[in-house]
Amino acid sequence: MAIFKDRHYFRVNLEKKTDESLWMKCKSCGELVFKRRVRENNNICPHCGEYFFLTAQERIESLIDKGSFTDISKPIVASDPLSFQDTKPYPQRIEEAQEKTALASAIIIGSVTIVGIPVVMGVMDFRFIGGSMGAVMGEQICHGMEEAIRCRQSFILVSSSGGARIQEGLFALLQMAKTAAVRGRLAEEHLPFISIMTYPTTGGVQASIASLGDIIIAEKGAMIGFAGRRVIQNTIAEELPSNYQTDAFALEHGLIDRVVNREDLREELGKVLGFFVGAQ
Ligand SMILES: [Zn+2]
Repeated sequence: MAIFKDRHYFRVNLEKKTDESLWMKCKSCGELVFKRRVRENNNICPHCGEYFFLTAQERIESLIDKGSFTDISKPIVASDPLSFQDTKPYPQRIEEAQEKTALASAIIIGSVTIVGIPVVMGVMDFRFIGGSMGAVMGEQICHGMEEAIRCRQSFILVSSSGGARIQEGLFALLQMAKTAAVRGRLAEEHLPFISIMTYPTTGGVQASIASLGDIIIAEKGAMIGFAGRRVIQNTIAEELPSNYQTDAFALEHGLIDRVVNREDLREELGKVLGFFVGAQ
């Protein structure tokens, strides 16, 4: 039973913008804003400061030294080991997600530099079936960490995921153990793993690799948790605190190390990397 296909793979092109519209309306303040101005402002509303959703391509551009990105993902895409079908067949869902995002899967692995320091970086894209972790994402994350070991570099993972990919059943759940095992090898090699949680980092991704960083940074406004709020409330029959699963709650309870504004993330990463590289 094949869990990967090597056909239909394509590299990501950061120059190619999937959304060509010039203007957008801010859902928070209602202002009509010029898209390019928003992009230059880290996809933050210039009027009210609302964070707009970032695609993986935009996230990479916002964090790395300009022009330093090389897509080093493995040339694989998801197959359909369970012949899964809900409202549509799983292969069709994948093709539609590829079309929409211009990505081969829900994660990109890149070789980049940040403030001049070479690192391997994995970035998820929530538009691609909710950034869910199936066999391909698990394999790509492991590949990224193995590349980091081979090149003696740090590994950075930017999560934006609803959790395990239901369409792959147990194959998806297995990725939690698999990524955690390779993460252990990174630790044995004394190479830093920096995990960045963004809105949302939940389910099997939060419960495995995203929570295993040496340093765990949440972008301001991140939602961090395992099961959904309603599911937990119904299960334990208790009211949850109003700030449950927010960045502030996670910080207060020791799940993460710090909360950083989007516009400061790159500089923060530079500082953390500088600390580790200086100590090596
Ligand atoms: Zn606004």
